[in-house]
Amino acid sequence: MMKVRELGEFNLIDRISTAFSSEDKDLLIGIGDDCAVFTKGDKKMSLLTSDMLVEGIHFDLDFTTPFHLGAKSVAVNISDVAAMGGKPRWFLLSLALPGHMDVSFIDDFCAGAAQLANKFGVKLIGGDTVASPDKIIISITLVGEEDGTDPIRRDGASEGDQIFLTGTVGDSGAGLSLLRGGTSRDSNNKSHVELIMRHISPTPRIKESEFIASRKIATSMIDVSDGLLQDLTHICRGSGVKGKIWLDRVPLSGSFRVAAEELDLEDDFPLSCGEDYELLFTVPLERVESLDLLEKEFSCKVTHIGEIASGEGIALYDSFNNEIECRHYGYEHFKAE
Ligand code: ADP
Ligand code: MG
Repeated sequence: MMKVRELGEFNLIDRISTAFSSEDKDLLIGIGDDCAVFTKGDKKMSLLTSDMLVEGIHFDLDFTTPFHLGAKSVAVNISDVAAMGGKPRWFLLSLALPGHMDVSFIDDFCAGAAQLANKFGVKLIGGDTVASPDKIIISITLVGEEDGTDPIRRDGASEGDQIFLTGTVGDSGAGLSLLRGGTSRDSNNKSHVELIMRHISPTPRIKESEFIASRKIATSMIDVSDGLLQDLTHICRGSGVKGKIWLDRVPLSGSFRVAAEELDLEDDFPLSCGEDYELLFTVPLERVESLDLLEKEFSCKVTHIGEIASGEGIALYDSFNNEIECRHYGYEHFKAE
């Protein structure tokens, strides 16, 4: 009998989806994008996304605090709405908790979740609370809306589109490596703390996403949660195209560069480490100029890291334009076991 781990996360999702019919006149986007999108006949579209955080897989209470965990649980869901150019509105919070936990955990968790929710204008509207034998499990379902714009899908990239990325990648992964190596979030080293905070307290790129959506700049978009190459693969597969990435253009922060030396991280680490929650998107050549204003208005760095070609898969190039092997794509559940 085949085991779940042999199939891997993405084959499992395919297998689950084939067991159900997806035909529904109100459903615009079903399984396979950052959010499901449906309409009730009016112009407004609703977005739905769900993300689960499991103790020991997604978080370790030695590394984070209940406050930051609460904020991150909401942030990762908001990030999926950002990935489609939507506006986050309401969420359901479901918790499975071992009975021996202190109530103060919940107070602090909720304070963090509420602070982030308030910042992005989302309201808690329900959920479920159950006992768990051992580990904490947090599941959030978030509802968003499209305000008169079309959702930006994963499957809209075409040959000739240019690939862009907000911010920098690798920071969250380096932060996690530092934590695993024994560095504390109270360290005196400012750049270590910066990387650690990017891991335990990510910020979803909602403002930037709204800018991109309202000006119809992107043909496809995804948030980088599993790793740049893995997430680009989702765009390329969905769109039936090939993604070319120039390794030396991939934006890295100063703190990352220093930590990468100290931790002896490989060159391709920032391409696959995940959890940066940056936006990865494709732009037709004639709309590339519109991105200047995004950088100015939100002081958000936007970097041109590659282009879309015909074909399939991902190709990685060094500064001499020689193709280099992609060894790691990113995180896939079960494969990491
Ligand atoms: P993301 O990283 O953006 O949260 P995932 O990789 O988790 O997206 O999921 C990819 C797609 O598969 C999404 O559309 C998600 O809703 C869908 N999906 C994941 N697990 C299931 C499941 N158990 N049943 C139905 N759809 C699922
Ligand atoms: Mg996503």
